[in-house]
Amino acid sequence: MKILTNKQKQTILDSIRDIPDFPKPGIVFKDITTLLNDKEAFKLLMDHLEARYKDMDLEYIAGIDSRGFIFGAPLADRLGIGFVPIRKKGKLPSATICEKYELEYGFDEVEIHLDAFHEKKDTKVLIIDDLIATGGTAAAACKLVKDTKADLVEICFLMNLKFLEGDKKLEEIASVYSVLDI
Ligand code: AMP
Repeated sequence: MKILTNKQKQTILDSIRDIPDFPKPGIVFKDITTLLNDKEAFKLLMDHLEARYKDMDLEYIAGIDSRGFIFGAPLADRLGIGFVPIRKKGKLPSATICEKYELEYGFDEVEIHLDAFHEKKDTKVLIIDDLIATGGTAAAACKLVKDTKADLVEICFLMNLKFLEGDKKLEEIASVYSVLDI
């Protein structure tokens, strides 16, 4: 189903567990492990993503380290296309390009293999991650995909923490889709 009903969205939302004060006081961590071990909710989500993206002529899904891999790899398989990991610095073994981004305290970096899309121009790519908070990680991932000269079709999230307004910042550089606004 391309468009989820409110009831279907609620089913997915109900399967995600809130963990208060993790990893530090004041953060409510959205725990997707309870979605993954709920076969109905997980299937509902994957059926929806498949329906949404199956006619977009995508060539690759790029998943953001690490929960973007969990949704991105099975989606790529369902669509019959390739999967590319965007990883935290120092994890990818071959030649990479790297993008630094700001965290609440300090910086982090993400990387992609230089030949991830076989160095072909205008390759149609969808980026996926579980959650957008400030949007810093996602913006760095978008920059990396664009630097490979690929055509970034959209960036997709399972959850959007609306009150942080990361989506607004990201919409200036890419089309943004979130399954659940929180
Ligand atoms: P940001 O760069 O601020 O948009 O943070 C997004 C990344 O941090 C995503 O990869 C999320 O998996 C993770 N993240 C941030 N906040 C939360 C949260 N409240 N619950 C679960 N994951 C989070």
